[in-house]
Amino acid sequence: MHCPFCKTNETKVVDSRLVSEGDQVRRRRECLACNERFTTFEVAELLLPAVIKQNGTRQPFDEQKLRSGILRALEKRPVGIDAIEATLTHIKHQLLATGEREVSTGLVGETVMDNLRSLDEVAYVRFASVYRSFKDLNEFRVEIESLEKWHRNC
Ligand SMILES: [Zn+2]
Repeated sequence: MHCPFCKTNETKVVDSRLVSEGDQVRRRRECLACNERFTTFEVAELLLPAVIKQNGTRQPFDEQKLRSGILRALEKRPVGIDAIEATLTHIKHQLLATGEREVSTGLVGETVMDNLRSLDEVAYVRFASVYRSFKDLNEFRVEIESLEKWHRNC
């Protein structure tokens, strides 16, 4: 993407969100040469970004894996399938809106946790325990305390 001010193509995305029902993405970009900021409207890439794992390998986005991880966390929780589907759609939108071709597995995990936290807190703690590989009860306690703090802040 060329900077409209100095024409360099060294720019970075500072904010990115989907608009008009998710088929366009609005990006705020900053030029690395002249530091001007500008906004672009681009056709959203419909492909979800590839996922970079902690060991550095890349994998195509696995929607099935995302779905099964979320369903497992929500097992026997009073959350309807419509709310689950809406959450999955929201997570995919957020990942598309990054505008990145590749995202880290950490970003995917944090995005899922942000969404689960508003959907169902038990599912959130379950997912966090798997994702962050909790080793003992203390790690659960820390997570639950941070959840309580989050509550007080909203
Ligand atoms: Zn520039």
